[in-house]
Amino acid sequence: MRARLVAGNWKMHGSLAANARLLEALKAGLPEAEGLGYAVCAPYPYLAQVSQALSGSRIAWGAQNVSEHDSGAYTGEVSGAMLKEFGCRFAIVGHSERRGLYGEDDGRVAAKFLAARRAGLTPILCVGETLEQRDRGETAAGVAALGEAVLAYEPVWAIGTGKNATPQQAQYVHAFIRARLAKRDPSLAQRVTILYGGSVKPGNAGELLAMPDVDGGLIGGASLVAEDFIAICAAARR
Ligand code: PEP
Repeated sequence: MRARLVAGNWKMHGSLAANARLLEALKAGLPEAEGLGYAVCAPYPYLAQVSQALSGSRIAWGAQNVSEHDSGAYTGEVSGAMLKEFGCRFAIVGHSERRGLYGEDDGRVAAKFLAARRAGLTPILCVGETLEQRDRGETAAGVAALGEAVLAYEPVWAIGTGKNATPQQAQYVHAFIRARLAKRDPSLAQRVTILYGGSVKPGNAGELLAMPDVDGGLIGGASLVAEDFIAICAAARR
């Protein structure tokens, strides 16, 4: 059975007080479920708070980005080794907001992926097509995936828009990614965890997360509301 995961991406939201409330609610409310893991990916300055609050709990934590470099004169960057020191298990790489707003191309995303692995982190590698790519029939080009990690299929047109992929659309692309990986490594393809992300809410999580190749979710907006994130996690149980 593949590992299942629901990870929250807090993006650039939070404060010490709001985080403390959210983390306490998650610790109290997330059910123990065999084969299902939970994580929150917090802004860098809050990783110390998150690691303190979640240490010893069933919730893992991660960062939303990582430098492709291990150390050096890279002002404003944060290395994988630094994240590891704060107990991070995950680092999101290639989120569409990083690609779109900060110009991260596939080469840089691949370098970040490798840097995360070097540091002993599990990259959550995001891939997904824009609406224009989907309309041109180029979804496959938008989701070329690589290596051993958690993958997240996040159609760019569904992120933060309130417009989610249908369960069938998500299943189709997840199965496509798995088939692509199987050409290189059939056993990797069978065991890799592929999350769906893009406007997952309590109301649509059940159907999306029930799809056979959808192994969990990467949750943006709804991960900031404890009861919504808990409801989505409950829907991810098998
Ligand atoms: C995301 O930021 O990865 C995401 C999926 O956002 P949302 O759930 O808000 O669409």
